[in-house]
Amino acid sequence: MKKNIFLLLLITIVSISCKSKEKKAAPAQKKEAQLIITPIEHATAVLTYKDVTIFIDPTGNAAAFANFSAPNYVFITDIHGDHLNVKTLESLDLSKTTIVAPKAVTDKLPEGIAKEIIIINNGEEKTFGVLKAEAIPMYNLRKEALKFHTKGRGNGYVFTIDNQRIYFSGDTEDIPEMRALKNIDKAFVCMNLPYTMTVESAADAVLEFKPKEVFPYHYRGTGGLSDVAKFKSLVNLGNPNIKVVQLNWYPNQK
Ligand code: ZN
Repeated sequence: MKKNIFLLLLITIVSISCKSKEKKAAPAQKKEAQLIITPIEHATAVLTYKDVTIFIDPTGNAAAFANFSAPNYVFITDIHGDHLNVKTLESLDLSKTTIVAPKAVTDKLPEGIAKEIIIINNGEEKTFGVLKAEAIPMYNLRKEALKFHTKGRGNGYVFTIDNQRIYFSGDTEDIPEMRALKNIDKAFVCMNLPYTMTVESAADAVLEFKPKEVFPYHYRGTGGLSDVAKFKSLVNLGNPNIKVVQLNWYPNQK
């Protein structure tokens, strides 16, 4: 009889200890289901969410993406080499990939480079499974810079994923369409000269559309890296509630 009680006690202890292990395991699983954004370089980034992998403006050949699964989606903003890099696209396994880009970009893609190519242009939106993408205009305003990005050619994107709205500006100045954005959780905003805009213009636009967090990206210009510390101080001076997040966009820069 005593032996039976002892066995029952042992089973109960083991069962409780297993249950507590199950409870501990839960947060780890939840973490994996969150959106993770990884900077690769300059304008190139990877978004992962559950089993979906998204490459933004992939450059740097397959070696730059060695830590990631083949992409489900590749989004491209514009035709310039720091955004559309055909050599990199050809080095990747795109046999199960949908490339999403404006027409000016898809016109330059070799036939059969991916499973599927979908055109979206400024003002259009499309849903791809867990991801919604809106194409936002991106263009220059300064007279001397108009030649770089003509209005209507390239796309910035607002992605809705994991209940967040994520903005990638592409190459643009502080255009009214950026200033009018609403409910942005994370904004990736370019700032380099002569191609896009000054840190002052970028900060001014950010203070107007008030994302919860802003990530300076695409900030290498002909004169080197832009003064992102100044960008952060301008944003925080104007609105301390906007969090400026500095990621490592130039790992190879000395
Ligand atoms: Zn660029």
